[in-house]
Amino acid sequence: MSGTEIERRGILLVLSSPSGAGKTTITRELVARDDNLRISVSVTTRLPRAGEVDGQHYHFISRERFEEMVAKGELLEHAIVFGNCYGTPRAPVEAALNAGRDIISDIDWQGTQQLKASVRGDLVSVFILPPSLAALEERLRARAQDSAEVVCARMAKSTDEMSHWPEYDYVVVNQKNDLEASVQRVQAILAAERVKRDRQIGLADFVNRLRSGG
Ligand code: 5GP
Repeated sequence: MSGTEIERRGILLVLSSPSGAGKTTITRELVARDDNLRISVSVTTRLPRAGEVDGQHYHFISRERFEEMVAKGELLEHAIVFGNCYGTPRAPVEAALNAGRDIISDIDWQGTQQLKASVRGDLVSVFILPPSLAALEERLRARAQDSAEVVCARMAKSTDEMSHWPEYDYVVVNQKNDLEASVQRVQAILAAERVKRDRQIGLADFVNRLRSGG
């Protein structure tokens, strides 16, 4: 830590949105631009899609292992989404927050509600909305990783998922063809949250040193 850097708690930045609204792309872009921001790798019981790497996109685990993790309190939150189980491993997130490093996580509204209780003030939540339903459907079809049936199921769930926007601290509309604007908005949120007084746990010491001429 340099002389003027003030110790702070890390932030758990959660991005949620209906599938296809662009949160995964925004997340990757944010991490590529910010050395202090790492992705939380979730566990899931769903099968890997083409191109997905175990340990990078998800930790792909069995239903038995998932249930064991829940029972042992190894997950900060967990939920069933589209019939598969998902959860956020507790240990890496807690270690990062304690060390003042920020974590970004792409989870659904059920998980975000649980994190409000478990990580409290360390949580900053952002809801990403698509500009229109047509744009959402276009993105889901373009992804072409899922069967037509799965795309339909995801579309049907989207309107329901969108109803959770009031539970989030910030809401960003991811305009078509303007990924850059969305990324910049979330970067601005992160920049402001990093200097929040409560998060800067070294502030009192710093000001005391300042006042005593140190
Ligand atoms: P997908 O299977 O398309 O990767 O993800 C499906 C949904 O599960 C997405 O809405 C994603 O945000 C959510 N999800 C992924 N990981 C987690 C997690 O660890 N916890 C919760 N609650 N949801 C997750």
